[in-house]
Amino acid sequence: MPLFGGIEAGGTKFVCAVGTGPDDLRNEVRFSTTKPEETIGQAIAYFEEQHRQEPLAAIGIASFGPVDPNPDSDRWGYITTTPKPHWADTDFAGAIGRALDLPVGFDTDVNGAALGEYRWGAARGLENFIYLTIGTGVGGGGLVNGRLMHGLVHPEMGHIYLSPHPDDPHPEGFCPFHGHCLEGMINGPALEQRWDRPGETLPEDHPAWELEAHYLALGLESFICTLSPQRIILGGGVMGQSHLFPMVRQKVLELLNGYVQSPAILEHIDEYIVPPGLGSKAGVLGAIALAHQAAEDS
Ligand code: ZN
Repeated sequence: MPLFGGIEAGGTKFVCAVGTGPDDLRNEVRFSTTKPEETIGQAIAYFEEQHRQEPLAAIGIASFGPVDPNPDSDRWGYITTTPKPHWADTDFAGAIGRALDLPVGFDTDVNGAALGEYRWGAARGLENFIYLTIGTGVGGGGLVNGRLMHGLVHPEMGHIYLSPHPDDPHPEGFCPFHGHCLEGMINGPALEQRWDRPGETLPEDHPAWELEAHYLALGLESFICTLSPQRIILGGGVMGQSHLFPMVRQKVLELLNGYVQSPAILEHIDEYIVPPGLGSKAGVLGAIALAHQAAEDS
C-alpha cells in the first residue's frame, strides 16, 4: 500500500506523520503553530524529506477553523475567519499541494477525526454518527448517510446557545462571540476561568464536573434530536477526564426522558456515548484518513 501524509493542524500545535493507518503510523513530528508561512513551511519541509525517502500518494489536512471545505469554492482549502492572529484568509491546502505536487484532502479537524473513526475506530460500519471534541475549543463533525457533514460551510456544533444553570457562578459564559454557547460553557478555558484553576487540577468530586456534564448533555440532547446519530464519540483534552463519561450518559438519559425509543440509548448507552477508538491518535489518523480519501478521489 502506498504511504500517506497527515497534518493534524491545531491552534497551538501541528502534528505531522506518514503512514497507512493505526498499525503503521511512522515518524511523527510536532511543532508549535506560529505564523502561517513558518508553520506551513515546516510541514512542507518535513513531507519533502519523507517523500524523498519513500514516495507519498497524498496528504491529508485536518485543520482548526473555520475553514472552507467546499471543493467548488475558489477559497477551498483556506482557513477563513479564525480569530487566531495571522491565520485568517490563509491558503493552507493550496500551499501544501503546490509545494509537494500531491493530491490534498482537506477538512475540519473533527470531520477528519470522524473519518478516521469510521475507517478504523469506534464508528466502523456506521453511516450516521457525530464526533465532538472538547478541548481548547468545542467542535463537531461526523457522517450523514455515509458522507462527511458539509453544507453551507461546515457544522459549528460548539456554538449552539445553552440555558445557563442556576448554580453556575458564571452564567454569562466565556465565548467571545456568544457568551453562553456550548463552547463558552465547557471548553478548557471556560473551566479554568469559571473555577480559577486549570480543569485538570479539579478533583473528581468538584462541582465543576456536574456542571460540565450537565452542559455537555444539553448539547448532546440537541444533537440526538436533530441528527439522530447512531453513536456519539467524545474526544479532546477535557474528555481525558474519563469520569465525565458515566455522568454525561446519565444526564443525557434524564434529559431525553424516554422520548427517543431506541435500544441503543435506552439499553446500551455505554456503547452509544464513547471515547475515540483511536485514542490520542484520532487527530493525526483522521488526517491520514483524509489523505486516503484524496488519493481515492484523484
Ligand atoms: Zn460561541
